[in-house]
Amino acid sequence: MTADIYEPVINIKGIGPGRGGLLGNLGIFTVNDALWFFPRRYEDRREICKISALKEGLSSVVAARITSVNCKRSFRTGTHICLCEAEDGTGTVSIVWFNRKGLNNILKQGMSIAIFGLPSFCDGKIEFSNPDFEVVKNKSDVESFSGIVPVYPSTAGLPVRWFRKFMCKVLEDHLPLVPEYLPQGIMEKRSLQSISEALWGMHRPDSEERWKDSRKRLAYEEFLFLQTVLVLRKERLKRSHEAAKITPDGYYYLSFMDSLPFELTASQKNVFAQIFKDTKNGHPMSRLLQGDVGSGKTVIALGLAAAGADAGIQTAIMAPTEVLAEQLYSQTQKFLSPSGISCALLKGGQARSERIPLIGSIRDGRTKVVVGTHAMIQDGVEFLNLGTVIIDEQQRFGVMQRGEMLSRGKTSHLLMMSATPIPRTVSVCLFGDMDISLLRERPVGRKKTETRLIDFTKIRDLMQFIINESAAGGRTYWICPRVEDDAENELVSVEKRYAFLKKHLGPLGIGFIHGKMAGNVKNTELEKFRDGTTKVLVGTTVLEVGVDVPEASVVVIESPDMYGLSQLHQLRGRVGRGSRRGVCLLLINMIGDEVAERLKIMLKTDDGFKIAEADFLLRGPGKITGLKQHGAAGFKIADVLRDSELLKYAKEDAEWLISDAPALLNDPGFAKKLEIFRMNGIDASFKA
Ligand code: ADP
Ligand code: MG
Repeated sequence: MTADIYEPVINIKGIGPGRGGLLGNLGIFTVNDALWFFPRRYEDRREICKISALKEGLSSVVAARITSVNCKRSFRTGTHICLCEAEDGTGTVSIVWFNRKGLNNILKQGMSIAIFGLPSFCDGKIEFSNPDFEVVKNKSDVESFSGIVPVYPSTAGLPVRWFRKFMCKVLEDHLPLVPEYLPQGIMEKRSLQSISEALWGMHRPDSEERWKDSRKRLAYEEFLFLQTVLVLRKERLKRSHEAAKITPDGYYYLSFMDSLPFELTASQKNVFAQIFKDTKNGHPMSRLLQGDVGSGKTVIALGLAAAGADAGIQTAIMAPTEVLAEQLYSQTQKFLSPSGISCALLKGGQARSERIPLIGSIRDGRTKVVVGTHAMIQDGVEFLNLGTVIIDEQQRFGVMQRGEMLSRGKTSHLLMMSATPIPRTVSVCLFGDMDISLLRERPVGRKKTETRLIDFTKIRDLMQFIINESAAGGRTYWICPRVEDDAENELVSVEKRYAFLKKHLGPLGIGFIHGKMAGNVKNTELEKFRDGTTKVLVGTTVLEVGVDVPEASVVVIESPDMYGLSQLHQLRGRVGRGSRRGVCLLLINMIGDEVAERLKIMLKTDDGFKIAEADFLLRGPGKITGLKQHGAAGFKIADVLRDSELLKYAKEDAEWLISDAPALLNDPGFAKKLEIFRMNGIDASFKA
């Protein structure tokens, strides 16, 4: 056996091009990819249950002997049906499988099998329908079947049983060969499992405790790599004075301020002061601006861009979606272009004839402000002198992306703006390389958005309310949890709700928008809503971040229990942005007390910081059942909220490595992993 974990999986005996291709669809090309392909959840099959002890509604493992097998094909429907009887000395069960061709060749009378599934009781008989099973020839067959069994996210057409065995084999053959790459001292200090133990424990945990320890090791390592990158960057920035000098006293900046139709809030003034304190003497600014929805972050971005134009540098403003990029561009057109600053919008699907001159004017420096999505850095757009990078709705980007963004220009200023506050303890670690500014105050004259829970049975009244609202100059967003209908799922779709609302609200003008639409169609729909052609816009959470239509006054959120509180807060932030007061209606349909309690937090406060904290507390400690990540940073395992303690340790350790043990950083194993982390971090967040 060779010790190469980067060996392609198709080199493994028994894997041909067919299965190799299917594995590739899962992103598994090498042995290493397989080792890092983690289960989505686990089934606890540790106890083998006697048939006499089976309980209705409780999934169980039974080990039994087959007493009869009867496989046939229904002539009418063409369905393959295989019926088995089995006994274990305490009772008998019937087992039925549908559409599993070839079972008659596998199952034979007298054979021992293990099954796992949900028993149903009917007329004193116990039946399993389509259970997972394994023919038991020797002890190892029961072992791969019982215990805590991994359930992989999707096997893309590969038989589940085969996949599980494939993973077992990969683990057995290759895990002992995976070399450790974390420094020994750190492993001892933090009592971390070795990498091979941890990978084993993720796939085949023998107890919940073991699994937690394995998860801990992997989460810790993600944090450590992140912190190492951040601390290194901070050190570099601290010594540098080579960024552009930007001051708030030039023509463009002052014209911009003059053109604003409102007074800045005290918070906004304060943030400008913090920004210019850094930039005025060329010290590279690296700042995270956390501001609740509607606190007026865009003005800050525009002001900084205008002052940049005075300093003769270019500014790139990036948004996570095209809809938002489009919207930001219309703001630059409105507030920056009139004084003569040339601005451009880069987006996907632009015609070459349109794009080439734009790219040219960015390269030769004529264009001062470039708005776009992150595709703009991916496409290798060249700037003559990029001096400031601004990232809007940063929470939508991965943490690693900012490194990439900055490695482009020589040394630029960086302003990241985020509307999802995270607890302070977490933000100082995650953004350890940055200064943090807060925009807590909302513009004056803004009325508080009223939030109510309303029951589905009141939908008629709701229609009337929307009609009245439109007559009074307001507009309504209607948020649905999914795009299309899905037989397995009862959640209402945009399509269905749109059809329903059109019947009742058609005369008002109604449109719909979702993430699966082409970019230009999305923009047209949003434009129609913006200019009032449509008064009601049905959509998914594409409407969640950033969209700013001051006339929008009502947001109806269906199935609000599907969202986290911070997400609801974001959605609610779409209304009440102009002079008209906002109303947020959480449309509920038979919810439990616990959910109602949670939603009530939304009624109590409209402070995004408080809501974020409540979200954090409610999420509670993780269970073995799920690995779903929080998404705040695009980590594979780690969860910035749940693992905030680990994050703190990782920060300390990264600082120690860099100041006291730099030799360890250059250890080939560690250095290689750090590099891979850098690449994957960026990759993963681009895909998200
Ligand atoms: P967010 O922080 O959510 O990105 P925006 O920058 O989109 O918020 O601002 C929300 C709305 O408030 C916009 O319509 C904007 O023009 C307006 N606004 C921003 N600053 C002020 C202010 N100081 N006074 C009044 N309105 C303001
Ligand atoms: Mg915004």
